[in-house]
Amino acid sequence: MDKPNILLVEDEIHLARGICFNLEQEGCRVSHVETGEAALERLFYDRFALIILDVMLPGMDGFTLCKSVRESDSRVPILMLTARSEEGDRVTGLASGADDYLTKPFSLNEFLLRVKGMLRRSSWYLPEPVEEGYRFGENEVYLLSYRARTAQGEIDLTDLEVRMLTLLFQKEGAAVSRSELLERVWGYSTEVETRTLDNFIVRFRKYFESDPTNPSFFQTVRGVGYRFSRRALDKD
Ligand code: CA
Repeated sequence: MDKPNILLVEDEIHLARGICFNLEQEGCRVSHVETGEAALERLFYDRFALIILDVMLPGMDGFTLCKSVRESDSRVPILMLTARSEEGDRVTGLASGADDYLTKPFSLNEFLLRVKGMLRRSSWYLPEPVEEGYRFGENEVYLLSYRARTAQGEIDLTDLEVRMLTLLFQKEGAAVSRSELLERVWGYSTEVETRTLDNFIVRFRKYFESDPTNPSFFQTVRGVGYRFSRRALDKD
């Protein structure tokens, strides 16, 4: 089997060496670059199963790099590394198209669990989309073409957004647990707990709800997870 090809964008040499060593021990091939500019150049010639990128880089920062990657590739999994733990950074990271993030310093075990989940996911086929033009409220979601029409205009969806919407649409009306979402959308084992999932729901509410703070379609099921309902049902 081919070794998964990973692109690491990290300017801290000691950390980068450690990451490369450990990923190679896990049977991966790692290309390491120190700047966003060098990353874009590599991405022009090579395909990767996963991109791991640091937010704080000399020159182009990780957010800008991430957005730029997403303009041409909505599918490649992106794991962001951030030195800051502020909520704002996490939201900016995910809004720029990252699939997940880890705050430095992180444990090797936690890091490898995320990487393995993301690599597993990148080798999956997309779940069968339920239909083209899935309508609810003023929205129409096109899962096959990664686009949606909303009250605010047309938007592009990322691979993870499409996966998550596919699962929620398929289970319309039923509560989908956090662990099922993390396992089937992110490819994570039950050992991984991340609030990234909740940021994706916040994003969906911003895209699709007329009042994101009082959602009708993307409902929270307390203690369980989330439920999608096409009709605005009574809330819990
Ligand atoms: Ca850095």
